[in-house]
Amino acid sequence: MRSHTTSDLPGRCRRCWIREEFCICPTVPLVETRTRVLVVRHERESWKSTGTARVAALALPKLSFVDFDDDPAGVNERLPALSDAVVLFPSEQPSPWPETPPSTLVVLDGTWRQTRKMFTKLPKLHGLPRVQLEGPPADVLRLRDTSFDEGRSTLEAIAETLHRLEGASVSKPLLELHAEFVVRVLKARGVYQQKLDAFEAARRFPFVG
Ligand SMILES: [Zn+2]
Repeated sequence: MRSHTTSDLPGRCRRCWIREEFCICPTVPLVETRTRVLVVRHERESWKSTGTARVAALALPKLSFVDFDDDPAGVNERLPALSDAVVLFPSEQPSPWPETPPSTLVVLDGTWRQTRKMFTKLPKLHGLPRVQLEGPPADVLRLRDTSFDEGRSTLEAIAETLHRLEGASVSKPLLELHAEFVVRVLKARGVYQQKLDAFEAARRFPFVG
């Protein structure tokens, strides 16, 4: 499948995995944060070229990954100490945002079904405050509709949470990076104009199609 690629395919940048003519690396900002971001990533997510957590990692020096594989108990063991962390995960009764910013933000990366399963199988996360983003996701072009939190990509979810914790100086460059990544991947596939036209048509006629 087209979205399943590895970093060493010929003609692709080894760092961003986009075709070399459209490589995003020179435009990636360096975004220093106070918050550490720990992405617990479903193993199927880790080798998709459309995965946006990987793009977030290019910009955020304090982002690290733990890959969720078929040994959940081992994954739970590999999680670092999370004494001052919050997890971004929907809940019927979300926790209030902490008054003192947490040192670590935990984000689960995968489809909605995968993230629910991951959360269930990682008891180290169960005692953490569960925060969630308010309001609908922004009306922007995306690569996939698979929903992190009702339609946000993982990079957007990280950016918006960091906005809440640290402000626009952190979120703005990350959201710009997301927009640039989407454009470059669609151009590399030769479908940018087509996707943009469909996106704009859906905006003008939201109840059609
Ligand atoms: Zn690149």
